[in-house]
Amino acid sequence: MKFNELDIPLNILKALDKMGYEEMTPIQEATYPVIFAGQDLCALAETGSGKTAACAIPLIQKVDPALNAIQGLILVPTRELCMQYVAEIQKIAAQTAVIPYAVYGGFDKQTQIARVKQGVHILVATPGRLIDLLYEGILSFAQVRCAILDEADELLKVGFLEDIEFIMSCILHEHQTLLFSATMPDDIKKLAHDCLRDPRHISLIAERAAPESIEHYFVYSHPKQRHTELIRYLEDEDVNQALIFCNARHRVDALFRFLRKDFQDIDFMHAGLGQDTRSSIIRKFRNQKLRYLIASDVAARGLDFSHVSHVINWDFPRDGEQYTHRTGRTGRMGKKGKAFTFVSRQDLSSLRRLIRSKKIIPCWLGKDPLGENKAHQGWKT
Ligand code: AMP
Repeated sequence: MKFNELDIPLNILKALDKMGYEEMTPIQEATYPVIFAGQDLCALAETGSGKTAACAIPLIQKVDPALNAIQGLILVPTRELCMQYVAEIQKIAAQTAVIPYAVYGGFDKQTQIARVKQGVHILVATPGRLIDLLYEGILSFAQVRCAILDEADELLKVGFLEDIEFIMSCILHEHQTLLFSATMPDDIKKLAHDCLRDPRHISLIAERAAPESIEHYFVYSHPKQRHTELIRYLEDEDVNQALIFCNARHRVDALFRFLRKDFQDIDFMHAGLGQDTRSSIIRKFRNQKLRYLIASDVAARGLDFSHVSHVINWDFPRDGEQYTHRTGRTGRMGKKGKAFTFVSRQDLSSLRRLIRSKKIIPCWLGKDPLGENKAHQGWKT
């Protein structure tokens, strides 16, 4: 379905046209009538499927620009996602009088306070900074009509849950709540339901847990051989951009020190860096000024890097959800992508679970330690 077949005002249609959005993506088509009608929603869709615009378009339509108050509140788990989200809303709302703004940690709080005081219609926020501002008493949620939890399963996990409950408890009147996520583990599902009132459920990932646009490669090797194998892989492959994930900051630092000897257009990112540095690295990577980015999981969720051809798991992901989020940085919007995961002996039981739960068809480069894949792919020579 095309956007212009819906009753969307011309100033939004023009902006969408300028962005090159003509056809709705499946998640946009499925959720638009529900969001527009004011119903609560729990939507599961693959990462990179157009979830941001799916929320942003009806939300912008519903905002009354003449009312100088926060009417839409969007919570996201990371600063980068916050910036990405608000940038998309800004583009879609460019020709309207709707004012979106983002508040997140690591950025001057007084500047944010001053901006919020001037008037904001749609506020995108990370929970920590939002709570700071709530304590300062400068935010009013009296006019919030729609609250959105993006990457909802992450926001409802232990570290965030209390903050989210507190924030939601500050919206005292009836409002619409929308939950969006690419993954929703069972234990989180119940919490999600506690936030919703008679919700509609839309799942576009029920049949296949891992996107088909991604090929899943694995290599079984001793940790000591990984460095050589990674270099061989990066040199053999036709890499447009690669995102390399490690499980801890010190692992990111160490891999960066090693790889920068051989690769020039490479950088690293983790939560230990200052916000300005983080933002500048993300910008460079998004604009393809960097070819390789080594990162912790702050870069795993929701970030839209359209040119990433390869995602590499230097360290085996903690669980299936983390695998989905990391690998979802490639193969976006119908493009092809490759995921390449190093596996060592202690990862084998997690690997079995991953393959089963995400219905992954693994391609082994070299030995298949599970002995299930007879036709080994082998390394290119
Ligand atoms: P998201 O899932 O919101 O991160 O979006 C993934 C990518 O799809 C982003 O680069 C968007 O700009 C792009 N996108 C979203 N909706 C559409 C659409 N209807 N047509 C073309 N591209 C889109």
